[in-house]
Amino acid sequence: MGTLLITNIGELTTFADDVGDAMIVSDRVLWIGKASSAPAADEVLDAGGGAVLPGFVDSHSHIVFAGDRAAEFAARMAGEPYTGGGIRTTVAATREASDSALAANASRLMREAMSQGTTTLEIKSGYGLSVVDEARSLRIASTLTPETTFLGAHIVPDDLVRVVGTTHSNRTNTQPLVQDRREYVDLVCGEMLRECAPHAKWIDVFCEKGAFDVDEARVILTAGVKAGLMPRIHANQLTYSGAVQLAVELDCASADHCTFLTDADVSALASSSTVATLLPGCEFSTRAPYPDARRLIDAGVGVALATDCNPGSSFTSSMPFCIAVAVREMRLTPREAIEAATLGGAKALRRNDIGHLGSGAQADLIILDAPSALHLAYRPGVPLVKHVLHKGVRVR
Ligand SMILES: [Zn+2]
Repeated sequence: MGTLLITNIGELTTFADDVGDAMIVSDRVLWIGKASSAPAADEVLDAGGGAVLPGFVDSHSHIVFAGDRAAEFAARMAGEPYTGGGIRTTVAATREASDSALAANASRLMREAMSQGTTTLEIKSGYGLSVVDEARSLRIASTLTPETTFLGAHIVPDDLVRVVGTTHSNRTNTQPLVQDRREYVDLVCGEMLRECAPHAKWIDVFCEKGAFDVDEARVILTAGVKAGLMPRIHANQLTYSGAVQLAVELDCASADHCTFLTDADVSALASSSTVATLLPGCEFSTRAPYPDARRLIDAGVGVALATDCNPGSSFTSSMPFCIAVAVREMRLTPREAIEAATLGGAKALRRNDIGHLGSGAQADLIILDAPSALHLAYRPGVPLVKHVLHKGVRVR
């Protein structure tokens, strides 16, 4: 592909040693330096004095689903607590939806995220909860991102009936395949994993009261690792569950949520390569207490920010929103929040080619209609993302 010179950069954030006010990219970052000494390029893009920073790496989303839970949100804002039980509502709607409806909804949300600066998006299954529906969710996700995650262990479905049949259209609804939660765990580790693994890079478990306990999560994640997937986990969102310790034990790339942490959890994370992924959209939308990001960063824990985009507990695709909330409510500095939303997300996906703009990095970057990245937190709710490049191609 051709080369693009970006000039007139107000502030360049690379999270690498390279400094300058101009850069040249193809699908990779080729050169960074002073505009006055820039080599020739095929095209020029004037940043207009706007800040340039790496594209956001949103390492946690659930965008393959059907249906709407706005009424549940309204009830919660009127005082009802969040328990995670509404997942069942989405499972029912997702199973009913056609392949094309599911794919259209997911790609609409993917475009929505990209237009706000997200250049890498992890996408989980978890609203099918049958062999057929989990596999098709992952097939759809894998058309949108390489970062696909098998989350058959989201909850134990109530309705264990619709689990047979080989495709969405020919399955039968009469014969229960599994009777209880133990059989469901066996199904997740057996046939469901076999059908899903070819379309997934990661395996995840919702390890929480009302979902799966630590022993079940260990069995499921270990089965996934044996099948060639890499582990990550929903940990300590609603309770002190022990899931963070399991994340460290299994060298999960990421322990996500981390709202309730003991001192032992924090020190286990600090001495591991497991990233704590914080999801402020979730606390915002469930009116829950925010995790103490300051405590994690001060202890030396690697921190990522992600949206948790899903129809129940956090229906936002906006990383700028998450940055603003993390700064205001979780006591990250703006610089820390921006790093967590880019480089931190890349670490949570064990990627070193994204989340920074050092030489050779994938050319995923954002140009803001603002002179510095600080404005993402300083001007909350304002659409400051002017241009987005993914692998050097303008997607906005
Ligand atoms: Zn989640």
